[in-house]
Amino acid sequence: MTTDTNELKRVASQVRRDIVRMVHGCQSGHPGGSLGCTDYLVALYFSVMEHNPDFKMDGINEDLFFLSNGHISPVFYSVLAHAGYFDKAELATFRKLNSRLQGHPTTHEHLPGIRIASGSLGQGLSVAIGAAQAKKLNGDKHLVFTLHGDGELQEGQIWEAAMYAPHNKVDNLIAAIDVNGQQIDGSTKQVLSLGDLNAKWTAFGWEVLETKGNDIDALLVTLAEAKSRTGQGKPVVILLHTDMGYGVDFMMGTHKWHGTAPNDAQLAQALAQLEETLGDY
Ligand SMILES: [Mg+2]
Repeated sequence: MTTDTNELKRVASQVRRDIVRMVHGCQSGHPGGSLGCTDYLVALYFSVMEHNPDFKMDGINEDLFFLSNGHISPVFYSVLAHAGYFDKAELATFRKLNSRLQGHPTTHEHLPGIRIASGSLGQGLSVAIGAAQAKKLNGDKHLVFTLHGDGELQEGQIWEAAMYAPHNKVDNLIAAIDVNGQQIDGSTKQVLSLGDLNAKWTAFGWEVLETKGNDIDALLVTLAEAKSRTGQGKPVVILLHTDMGYGVDFMMGTHKWHGTAPNDAQLAQALAQLEETLGDY
């Protein structure tokens, strides 16, 4: 655990290398959102969350994270491996037959760090609220974190959960939305416009913060602010303004790399932009 942003940036660079290599290795998967959310997951697992890589499913007396947009599993698996949940060599099995690292995370493979199956969008917020309420009932003061795509906000269940949490004063929850303006079929504006997200979450009764999602320094400041707003009767949501594909120039700012694997030449081009800092798997 560290607050040294240079060290966190070094971890992020390696995670991004892992992401493009994993998706290239099986010619399948979702690099765009994974690259865009790398800085947030690195900040959570290497600086902010109190968590135990000696994984226990009940999660008592530690902070919990739920990945709701499960298709960005490459970033999740890489961060978990580097945080010590399992050997990074296993990243080479991503999306392969009988691997514990399925394209969308599931629990029955028993991969340490995975608490829910996700990939069917819209469900993770409800699970996180339940976990947060369980912590309150158990007198456990730790926090629950979630991450969602912005396209995922088009799912109705999200807004049921958004209504439920403030009503029930679930104030030990910090949700985050990856606001990259993109989803698999195009921009969110083209597919189903999200409108003013700050105004919407505020109207539902949440504490709303906004930050640059690909700036580790800004993320640490915002996460500290988010933590300071817990325990005051309201859930907290952070709008992360990210670029899909961040870190690889030709993958940035377009939905085209949402669910597309790089070929050999594109992999080489991507890796040339991402320093190997912790050793490739
Ligand atoms: Mg998106």
